[in-house]
Amino acid sequence: NAAVALDVPAGTDAAAGALDLLGRLKRLESDFGRRPRERWGPREIDLDLLVFGRARLAIDRTRETRSMDARIDAAKSSKRLEVPHPRAASRLFVLAPLADLAPGLVPPGWGQSVESARRRQAAIEGLQAVRPIGEWDASRGRWRPLQPR
Ligand code: ATP
Ligand code: CA
Ligand code: CA
Repeated sequence: NAAVALDVPAGTDAAAGALDLLGRLKRLESDFGRRPRERWGPREIDLDLLVFGRARLAIDRTRETRSMDARIDAAKSSKRLEVPHPRAASRLFVLAPLADLAPGLVPPGWGQSVESARRRQAAIEGLQAVRPIGEWDASRGRWRPLQPR
């Protein structure tokens, strides 16, 4: 798992901006070769929108941004876009890379920073639940593998 920060045009309407970004993520997934299948099995790639500025959103999706899996998993076709991602705060595999990037960020509705949420979740899941395997080398523009500790 990895977290990245993107600069996107602010626009005037956060909902439209978030839907547009989700649509682009879905196209990237598809270009990467993601195939439709049921939820939470192994996938070629999964790109989620964790936080979108200060926006708190629960909105119906346009056809382009609806899950490609909706065709085979009916529960997905009715799913709304929710931002911040509703399960991010309870997943150490999300919180750990997000805290590397933005420890002090307080996502709208969380009432705590990403780093506090990471520490709380690490106490629940255990420190062995996640381990760093690489770090971004900005000067070379690629990942540098880390030795196992
Ligand atoms: P989870 O949401 O538990 O991480 P998932 O990412 O494995 O589940 P997918 O099949 O990839 O599940 O996504 C299901 C649908 O959820 C997507 O098609 C997407 O439109 C919708 N969705 C709702 N909120 C978000 C969000 N914040 N980021 C990405 N997708 C979202
Ligand atoms: Ca996901
Ligand atoms: Ca997803």
